[in-house]
Amino acid sequence: MRDAQTLVLVGALLWLALVINVAVLPTNILVSSLYAVPVLVAAIRLRPRVVAVVGLLAILCYLTSAQVQERPLAARAFALLSLLTIGFLAVMLSEQRGQTVERAQEAEEALRLRDRFLSIAAHELRTPLTILKGSTQLLGQTAGGDRSGRLADTIGRQVGRMERLVEDMLDVSRIQAGGLRVEMRPFELRAAVEESLDETALTAPGAELCLEAGPEVWASGDRVRIQQVIGNLLRNAVQYSGGPAHVRVQVWREGDRAVVEVADRGIGIPREELPLVFEPHVRGANAPDDRGGGLGLGLFISRGIAEAHGGEILVDSEEESGSTFRLHLPLTLSTGPATMPPHVNTDLT
Ligand code: ADP
Repeated sequence: MRDAQTLVLVGALLWLALVINVAVLPTNILVSSLYAVPVLVAAIRLRPRVVAVVGLLAILCYLTSAQVQERPLAARAFALLSLLTIGFLAVMLSEQRGQTVERAQEAEEALRLRDRFLSIAAHELRTPLTILKGSTQLLGQTAGGDRSGRLADTIGRQVGRMERLVEDMLDVSRIQAGGLRVEMRPFELRAAVEESLDETALTAPGAELCLEAGPEVWASGDRVRIQQVIGNLLRNAVQYSGGPAHVRVQVWREGDRAVVEVADRGIGIPREELPLVFEPHVRGANAPDDRGGGLGLGLFISRGIAEAHGGEILVDSEEESGSTFRLHLPLTLSTGPATMPPHVNTDLT
């Protein structure tokens, strides 16, 4: 359809060039350059062979009109040479454009295949991991406190980590397929945040995690999914602390939104990378490689979950000063007056 429209346009431009050449400017020798216009338009949209045909037609039109107007041979030769050069360049341009489009399609297909493979692999890994987890727990219970007990603990921890990676991969494919489902139910946000903080504290014994809690805030959403987001923000705040972690969490109500803010004083995110950190598989240039396990999926999934709730996540950060992530969620209808956070920072992007 697009090709047909372009052909009509090219035909009209060729016709216009001929009319101007014959009827409007019959003596102007520069009028031959008008024939280059349809050739260049063809090069932008059409295949190389069609561009070559348009080029030949343009030359034919010019030579016929030059014959009728009895133009000097030198002028004809000059115009012919110019049109041939332009035609050649137009064919090359069209060829390169075609190759670029082909490469982009191949890259898109490769990405699609990768995502499909990851999704299938994650599904397939789920069952053996569940069995492995159950067996390890059984082993841990029967092994007692000796060396085999410690080994069972280590295997259990690693299986847990693999399980989280697999769940992350499945969440990514759900989000990319637009199929992340959340059940909207009222829940008290402050208590959910407290639970997430307790869980994070277990895995980060040296971290200073403080909750500046106000009154209760009733949000609407999937409590488990929201805790997944908060847990991820807290884990990141600890992992990217660049030393002893100091993390401050606040929960408050703002207009028709519930807000959770997680602020740290860690390594921060370079300003130019801020718009990218929510993209899948993106890790900051300053993110240490030695922490292991990071696939750069956590923030992508967190944003997907927030958006599935009709909410959003905003971030503000400065390298070497720290980061502030803010999760906005819809409130339940029967909520009280707005509350304010103890510390207000409005500079979130
Ligand atoms: P991962 O932590 O697995 O790399 P995420 O999607 O959770 O994946 O984070 C993406 C990137 O964003 C991280 O690699 C890191 O560079 C940056 N980032 C996220 N949270 C923070 C934070 N609190 N402080 C500094 N950098 C962060």
